Amino acid sequence: MSLAIMAPLSEADLPEVYASVESEVRSYCRGWPAVMESAQGSWVTDTSGRRYLDFFAGAGALNYGHNNPALKRPLLEYLASDGIVHSLDVATSAKTEFLQAFERQILRPRGLDYKVQFPGPTGANSVEAALKLARKVTGRESIISFTNAFHGMTLGALSVTGNSMKRAGAGIPLVHATPMPYDNYFDGVTEDFHWFERVLDDSGSGLNRPAAVIVETVQGEGGLNVARIEWLQALEKLCHKRDILLIVDDVQMGCGRTGPFFSFEEAGIVPDIVTLSKSISGYGLPMALTLFRRDLDVWAPGEHNGTFRGHNPAFITATQAIKTYWQSSDFTDATVGKGEFMRARLEEIAAEHDGVSARGRGMAQGLKFEATELASQVCRAAFDRGALMETSGPSDEVVKLLPPLTASRDELETGLDILAEAVTATVSA
Ligand SMILES: *Cc1c(COP(=O)(O)O)cnc(C)c1O
Repeated sequence: MSLAIMAPLSEADLPEVYASVESEVRSYCRGWPAVMESAQGSWVTDTSGRRYLDFFAGAGALNYGHNNPALKRPLLEYLASDGIVHSLDVATSAKTEFLQAFERQILRPRGLDYKVQFPGPTGANSVEAALKLARKVTGRESIISFTNAFHGMTLGALSVTGNSMKRAGAGIPLVHATPMPYDNYFDGVTEDFHWFERVLDDSGSGLNRPAAVIVETVQGEGGLNVARIEWLQALEKLCHKRDILLIVDDVQMGCGRTGPFFSFEEAGIVPDIVTLSKSISGYGLPMALTLFRRDLDVWAPGEHNGTFRGHNPAFITATQAIKTYWQSSDFTDATVGKGEFMRARLEEIAAEHDGVSARGRGMAQGLKFEATELASQVCRAAFDRGALMETSGPSDEVVKLLPPLTASRDELETGLDILAEAVTATVSA
């Protein structure tokens, strides 16, 4: 393993066409100014042959690593056999097999009697479908979201997202959503749900009766804020008692990121609606699902539509991912073990520096910096040492690690060594 610091790259090293043609809205290529060419497993290689250990995994879209051979084989066979690629929502053999595998191996063993909707192929599409359905079912318009939540960039999803910079991009008022404090928002000072329950029951509170609550079990973009199991259980109870639908946005924390297939399994709760995207195709191909209780399926045919709801190559790899990784609890157990391994090392790194703390669940782990500006500098120092890591949180104060769940212990150790060096170099700079 080498921790050599590479000659630092800057945005000026990218081909001219990025600055002259691509919009200023581009972002990741600024922090990682290399032209990537190929990737395998946990590693990405750029055009000059430099290799990077990927501790970001497409923001959680590559839980099974890059170009996973077990998924690539059936995908290549499917394409070579002229398997249908685009199909709107026409029935195809690839879709039949996906629905059967998902029902038999994911839903049924967990006792989840959900209908499956294919919204457009992104997380935001899935969230929009969830919000629309909740409003249609209840006839109410207001949605409760949480502080520091992230649910996507379309207007409905933005309305339940916390980040003020992203919200400002909407250009119009974002309405019909009310934020409530997420778990531990007051550092344990205020009793859980005290405020929420009070305003729900007070006819003078000014809160419209909500259609639904939308929540992440771990807030990935919001800074790796972890909701306690008992907080999630209390939230479910509160929703049931007051006839409010519970939506769990599992776009980033689902598909095994925290251990079990669904991140809410540990809490033993059953959401009314669930959103999935990022790693559901298993291969980084665009795909999303919205799942909901059978009795909530009040859609009229075609009432929520989309051109790319039938991306069959994604169905092929999604089916194979289920067959390869979700036949037993082995994959979950391995993820939990690797997550504990990561956490132990992160606690060590945190203990060596003032103002640094470890946080996360499963294989969504990271370091929070009290001096918020350090987190971005640490990510930059990690990039110079050959690792891809990103910040999250309202002030970009958290270094968030999302390595592929398939990463080996050696790879995890290498990445954590790089992080440790990057922190030391940054803090002592
Ligand atoms: C990434 C993400 C989304 C949005 O997904 P897109 O595919 O970017 O639209 C929604 N919710 C959560 C929790 C996410 O992490």
